Amino acid sequence: MLRSDFQKLMPKIIARFVKDEIEPLARRWDENREYPQENMRKLAEMRILGMRVPPKYGGSGRSLFDSVLILEQIAKADPSTAINLHIQHNASPIYVIHCSSDKVKEKFLIPFASGKILFSMAQTEPDVGSNLNDLSTTARRVGNDYIVNGAKCMITLGRNANVHLVYVKFEDDNSIGCLLIEKGQEGLYQGGHEDFLGLRGLDSGELVFNDCRVPEENLLIKGRGSLRQMLTFFNGTRVGLASISLGIAEAAFEEALRYSKIRTISRKPLIEYQGLQWKLADMAIKIEEMRQLVYSAAKDTSLNGFPNPFTSSAARIVASESAIEITNMVMSIFGAYGYSKEYPIERYLRDARGTTFIGGTPEVLRNAIGSYLKKRNL
Ligand SMILES: Cc1cc2nc3c(=O)[nH]c(=O)nc-3n(C[C@H](O)[C@H](O)[C@H](O)COP(=O)(O)OP(=O)(O)OC[C@H]3O[C@@H](n4cnc5c(N)ncnc54)[C@H](O)[C@@H]3O)c2cc1C
Repeated sequence: MLRSDFQKLMPKIIARFVKDEIEPLARRWDENREYPQENMRKLAEMRILGMRVPPKYGGSGRSLFDSVLILEQIAKADPSTAINLHIQHNASPIYVIHCSSDKVKEKFLIPFASGKILFSMAQTEPDVGSNLNDLSTTARRVGNDYIVNGAKCMITLGRNANVHLVYVKFEDDNSIGCLLIEKGQEGLYQGGHEDFLGLRGLDSGELVFNDCRVPEENLLIKGRGSLRQMLTFFNGTRVGLASISLGIAEAAFEEALRYSKIRTISRKPLIEYQGLQWKLADMAIKIEEMRQLVYSAAKDTSLNGFPNPFTSSAARIVASESAIEITNMVMSIFGAYGYSKEYPIERYLRDARGTTFIGGTPEVLRNAIGSYLKKRNL
């Protein structure tokens, strides 16, 4: 695949930064369930955080593929940092870029691009996950404001984000749309802290809205066709997530390859045993397959500039399922050491498992592909 200078150079710069700054601390964030704030600050200083924002608002207008190359490198050391960054690249700000007025763009994108604010994206509710049509968080129009009531849970950066992009059901037309709600807004309570098995640096929290008054200008999208439009943005979000599964699998595989050359059985390195060579070969093939799917989905702009449901869902399914398979195989290659906290393998496996839930489960993604195929004319 042809690459721009940025695409050739940036992954190398990020790989070095990851080795020096992120990798040494990844274990600490996992063990302490700690939000890796320093990483986000450093990424902001490097102007990586707001890099997808158009230059007019202080960013560098980078593409989904540019983002994917960076996320993949960061996920090799700390998938939580990669997911926190991914929300800033491929989730909420994309909605602001495409749906808001110049005034709102200036208000939110300029401080965001200079690293002063972070976004979250809040869809999931205690009783509603996969089916967004069932959302029960409501927005009612009163004068020039919307009054929001309801609750969201498992929200990445739910505790530290300054601006939440919140999916709601509008009472006047029953449509699903979204609003921007700022930290500190009266009637918004940020709390909880999800105790997940892996991805423990996500800063996952709850948002509760109790007659929370949101100015009309913070409305991003509502009305007929709004959910379809939001799902179009979501195709890009899925590809960003797929690159994080790819990074986890690559990191685990590289550990396995290194280990298989130094660990001996009967004075022969593991890699000399054909059964283990075949395992390594299978993993290398799978990773190449993941990479091709993720990169080509990241370059797909066939749906109004975004990847289509097939390319994005296929990349997400293959990447997240293969990452589990590969991290599990790597654990076998490490034997009991893989199951011990001495090596990062058990963390890779826990983190890989977590990526399957975010942004649509494999079942829901297969449904998306099914609907797409039903509409396809041969
Ligand atoms: C680490 C992590 C980070 C997260 N970050 C965020 C975030 O930032 N923002 C946010 O809004 N949410 C976030 N979530 C929540 C996540 O988006 C939801 O978990 C996900 O949408 C699935 O919803 P659910 O868990 O309620 O499962 P449910 O919707 O209750 O589904 C239960 C099971 O049924 C299956 N299923 C559902 N519908 C169908 C169907 N039609 N056909 C067949 N099977 C089906 C599902 O695949 C699943 O196996 C996060 C979750 C995790 C684990």
